[in-house]
Amino acid sequence: MVVVTSAKKQLNSSHLSTDSPIMAYKSVLLSVTALFASVGLAQDKPPTKPVISPALDYFNTMEAKLVANMPLQSFTSDDWGAGWIPQDCFDQAKVLGKNPADMLVFNVHYSDCPEPWIMCLHKDVASHKSLMIDRFGRVPLQMREYIRHISHYPGALNGAAAATNSGDNIAVGGDSMQMAILAHEISHSLDSHALQQYASGQFSLSSIWRDNYNQDSRVPTDYSLTAWAEDFAETGVVGIFDRVVPGGLGSINPNWHDIFHQYATYQGYLGNIIPPAHKSQCTSRLANSPPVPNGASSEVRRSARPNVNFKTNIAIIPPANTSCSGLRI
Ligand SMILES: [Zn+2]
Repeated sequence: MVVVTSAKKQLNSSHLSTDSPIMAYKSVLLSVTALFASVGLAQDKPPTKPVISPALDYFNTMEAKLVANMPLQSFTSDDWGAGWIPQDCFDQAKVLGKNPADMLVFNVHYSDCPEPWIMCLHKDVASHKSLMIDRFGRVPLQMREYIRHISHYPGALNGAAAATNSGDNIAVGGDSMQMAILAHEISHSLDSHALQQYASGQFSLSSIWRDNYNQDSRVPTDYSLTAWAEDFAETGVVGIFDRVVPGGLGSINPNWHDIFHQYATYQGYLGNIIPPAHKSQCTSRLANSPPVPNGASSEVRRSARPNVNFKTNIAIIPPANTSCSGLRI
């Protein structure tokens, strides 16, 4: 089954309200940590350094600057006919306790790729469709290539998570369709299989990452402390921010040097993948998952089975083959 390494509900304690959500958050971490331990993954002790001070405000200050400095790729979209859903969206909806038949499915054709991204949107957040297309369409092409499908659901996922990444399929909860969240989740995919030339498994478990972490005095956020993969993903938000926002991290935090080796490593090793744009058209993608009936009543007339095969000879990115390619939060 899926592997949960940790919970990503909150990256910034300033977002915690006053009715003791910190404790709720901690209990979530404990429960998923127990699950993590139970599946016996080989991962040693997570990072232990203090968090950069002042704290980074991922969801307000940084989010606004990310949106302002990451241009939206132009696009068109078309809805799938009734009755069909990609297999991965079907499975993800089931895991999250949602009815796959409640998912709206559509293709989004960004102008930098002849192959669309297939998105799955729960009917209760149907009003977020344009936001979903917009935010994902601001992610640089080279990063989007590592994402198979993206889905959006109402509320927190499984009652706790802002977003998840399962086999390069991102699911985002109700109020979390944000650049920082996407950068974090996509960074898990990059960690898993964009840097295989440097580390045979997960890059964040490599000595390269560890050696650079060791040269810093702090980590980006509290959430970085939950696992090496989360330190890498949290650092990814900073690395992208520093790349795209004029003045970089120093423009919002005088103590940027306390985490410099981490985000400089993210930037250095992923230099061809993170911003700025390095190509005008996509050259590789993950294969779409096959269409399956969405389980709606047989009284719903099913349209013709969609053809999700790539129509161009684009290279296929192999799925991640690391020990941590399951569900990550
Ligand atoms: Zn994560």
